[in-house]
Amino acid sequence: MSGPDNRYLKFDDEYDIIIIGAGIGGLLTAANLVNTGKKVCIIERMGFIGGRFTSIPYNGFKISTGALHLVPHGSTGPMGKMLKGLIHHPISKLKNNYFLRKIGNEIQVKKGIPSYFGSVLRDRFKVVGATAKYVRDGRPDTYSAIEYLNEGKVSEDTIAHLRKFANFTLSLDLDEIPAYHLGYVSRSFIRYWKPGLIMGGCGLVTKRLGELIAKGNIDLRTNITANKILLTDRVVKGVEVSSTISHGSGNNERDKMELMTKNIVSDIGPKATLNLLPNDEKDDMFWRNIKNIREATGFKFHVKVKKPPVKDAGVVFPLQALRIGGFSVVSNGDRSLAPKGSNLLIAHGIMKSEDTKREVEMGITDLEQILGPSFEYEDILSIGIFKDTWPVNRAMQGDDVKVSTPIKGLYLVGDGCKPIGTSMAEGVAGSVNILLKQTDLLKGA
Ligand SMILES: Cc1cc2nc3c(=O)[nH]c(=O)nc-3n(C[C@H](O)[C@H](O)[C@H](O)COP(=O)(O)OP(=O)(O)OC[C@H]3O[C@@H](n4cnc5c(N)ncnc54)[C@H](O)[C@@H]3O)c2cc1C
Repeated sequence: MSGPDNRYLKFDDEYDIIIIGAGIGGLLTAANLVNTGKKVCIIERMGFIGGRFTSIPYNGFKISTGALHLVPHGSTGPMGKMLKGLIHHPISKLKNNYFLRKIGNEIQVKKGIPSYFGSVLRDRFKVVGATAKYVRDGRPDTYSAIEYLNEGKVSEDTIAHLRKFANFTLSLDLDEIPAYHLGYVSRSFIRYWKPGLIMGGCGLVTKRLGELIAKGNIDLRTNITANKILLTDRVVKGVEVSSTISHGSGNNERDKMELMTKNIVSDIGPKATLNLLPNDEKDDMFWRNIKNIREATGFKFHVKVKKPPVKDAGVVFPLQALRIGGFSVVSNGDRSLAPKGSNLLIAHGIMKSEDTKREVEMGITDLEQILGPSFEYEDILSIGIFKDTWPVNRAMQGDDVKVSTPIKGLYLVGDGCKPIGTSMAEGVAGSVNILLKQTDLLKGA
């Protein structure tokens, strides 16, 4: 949903709550505040809402800005439940996951549960031994998953299964994720079982949330950037904003204005929030830790496929791939995501070095292997790089921060504050749940 040009619109002098960023975290927060009677404003620096959770139409395909139109825990997880409560949006549970192997020239695709549990079952004594040692030795939270698996001499096959799960779900390799966090994330997948496909794609969810917010008299402004968070004695006072699109003169000084509020919810990530604070606030331990947060990076291909390797939208984990963690032929689950007669495959890859070109080339080699002779370079509809200000995750698993900050009235939501065990957009919904539970923002005006 692209918004109007808001440069010349008048804002109210004061709001009860200002939300910075209309990513899925900001939108879910605003949607939950509809009917509270509070005066809320949500500002987005870009010309569209949804951030990394929306889609852009291209020749009949729905190209996503981030998420693969999937949610890890289907309709029963934190995201599915929240969407159900707010907009009754349908999410269809995926029936299967798959593991893909290349044996000689042949591609073998096996259903996920028999393949994974078969491997773990063969390794059961090693896994139990490694876990017992882990508990006995009181390992720190930073002890990596690969150290844990190697210490137990767990087989390469089980490691390959877990590696692909971590690559796809967390955009991390096993040496980057603490065993402790991988354990919690795996537990959530066992609890909620299968992922879900968002019918109509991420863009439809974003559009419907935008409509709910607009109907609820919440001021939703695109093309407006937050420049500074204004404080008095460590208490929120307001936000300085300006138009993202500068006037013809190239000078947007004229657009600058101060919006007053006692509550700010920031959805732009912990690091970007820190950058909006006055310098003397940044010395606090909470903010100093934020400087050290590591982001998860990655890349993504949208591919038009002639012969999909599977018949449904289940996630396929290619065990031998160098960089691709997993993919889904999303159009198998929802025909509206591709034009008639075409199939849309979305593949997600991790980056293991700073050399983006090389990393993407390795991903293309993976695609050639996975799709075989039917794959042609021209079938790639888009290649997206996710790092710096547009990463896969604003805090890699284990580096997340709390929703509340030491500044009175300043709160964080989004994928820099995922509760333990939650991943991707489930973590974003989880952070919004915590915000609403731990603060009185929901209480009527
Ligand atoms: C390649 C990839 C694949 C993914 N796959 C999945 C998946 O399949 N399933 C899933 O559940 N999740 C997936 N995710 C994760 C999911 O997309 C994100 O967790 C989620 O979209 C993050 O939402 P957010 O609101 O926290 O942040 P964002 O989407 O980044 O929103 C922040 C918003 O704030 C705006 N902003 C920034 N600075 C300012 C400022 N100063 N003033 C005003 N506005 C500002 C930005 O423009 C943006 O719109 C994937 C992510 C990526 C990148």
